[in-house]
Amino acid sequence: MTIGILGGGQLGYMLALAGYPLGLHFRFLDPSPEAPVGRIAQRVTADYTDQAALEKFSSGLELVTYEFENVPVEAARFLAERVPVYPPPAALEAAQDRLAEKGLFRQLGIATTEFAAVSNPGELDSAVKALGLPAVLKTSRLGYDGKGQWILRTPQDLAKAKSELPPGKLILERFVPFTRELSVLAVRSSNGETAIYPLVENHHRSGILRLSLAPAPRLEAPIQRAAEGAARRVLESLNYVGMLAIEFFEHQGELLANEMAPRVHNSGHWTIEGAVTSQFENHLRAVLGLPLGSTGPAGNCAMLNLIGDLPKSSEVLAVPDAHLHLYGKSPRPGRKLGHVTLRAASPERLALRLSELPAFFRRPDFCLDVALAPSASLRA
Ligand code: AMP
Repeated sequence: MTIGILGGGQLGYMLALAGYPLGLHFRFLDPSPEAPVGRIAQRVTADYTDQAALEKFSSGLELVTYEFENVPVEAARFLAERVPVYPPPAALEAAQDRLAEKGLFRQLGIATTEFAAVSNPGELDSAVKALGLPAVLKTSRLGYDGKGQWILRTPQDLAKAKSELPPGKLILERFVPFTRELSVLAVRSSNGETAIYPLVENHHRSGILRLSLAPAPRLEAPIQRAAEGAARRVLESLNYVGMLAIEFFEHQGELLANEMAPRVHNSGHWTIEGAVTSQFENHLRAVLGLPLGSTGPAGNCAMLNLIGDLPKSSEVLAVPDAHLHLYGKSPRPGRKLGHVTLRAASPERLALRLSELPAFFRRPDFCLDVALAPSASLRA
């Protein structure tokens, strides 16, 4: 049985690694000849808009899924006429456009920060009048990892943004002075079964995820229930199949949904060692209509992204309970090259393990100071 995957980055790589024990085969489509999956699976190198290549790619596949959320929706729809495509292209479409995404959250009664559509300097002025400063201006489409985003704090920032406004649809959001960022990973199978992982606490620098703590420290039942309720509403409303991630801000004891990803997610990498069933395996089980695996945690985890350069493997692996994942990409600033997961039997033990990581991890962008600080801490 061969599964087709659009996108050949590390998420696809880890999907394939989870699928081999289930006897699955994989075929990837990615425009880049350097896509990491080339090392472990069949890879078709072609543009997502190349219909002849899509046709050839889909031949003999059981189904198609994707690991990259900016796959053109037309490509997903073209394939869906030939072979089942999960998650449904409608989910891809909603997730690609921040205005549509926040509109969907609203429609489902899921709280978000206040926002307004902006497509010219006049609309930006009115939006700032309505929402106030500080605010965050984002391109509505094709933004990721903090790209295409500007924080407006002062009238000068507003004037600058107006003079440099990029073309296309934008969204202005009220800035949320959040307590923390959390994400929920949920999965729905083609037979309707759902399962949800415990919330994860995420720390970003320059818009890129650096550190996830799972389950989120000091996780209270009402917050977990609220996240599960939101995830279920999205899953049901889209007749969703596969893994879904929703990112939230925790603010004044409530969750505000920021965005969703219709795919396996970086904040779920801890599940490889830290949950009974990984997000990658559960995604495959879901799209194949197989029973889902338990989403229960197997201890306390910290996942650290390795961005731009790599530590010495021997130094990482010298830390008990550390697991190293390298994606086989050549180093480049800002590029996700791998991750490390530490798993421990308790939050205190996890804090100890984090403090034992080599000096490489003391850089501020690993956010260890936040995780280990006595106030917001694993030790609290
Ligand atoms: P996003 O691309 O929407 O996930 O934004 C990247 C990061 O910017 C988020 O993880 C937050 O840390 C920050 N951010 C985005 N939107 C807001 C907002 N409305 N208020 C405060 N911080 C935000």
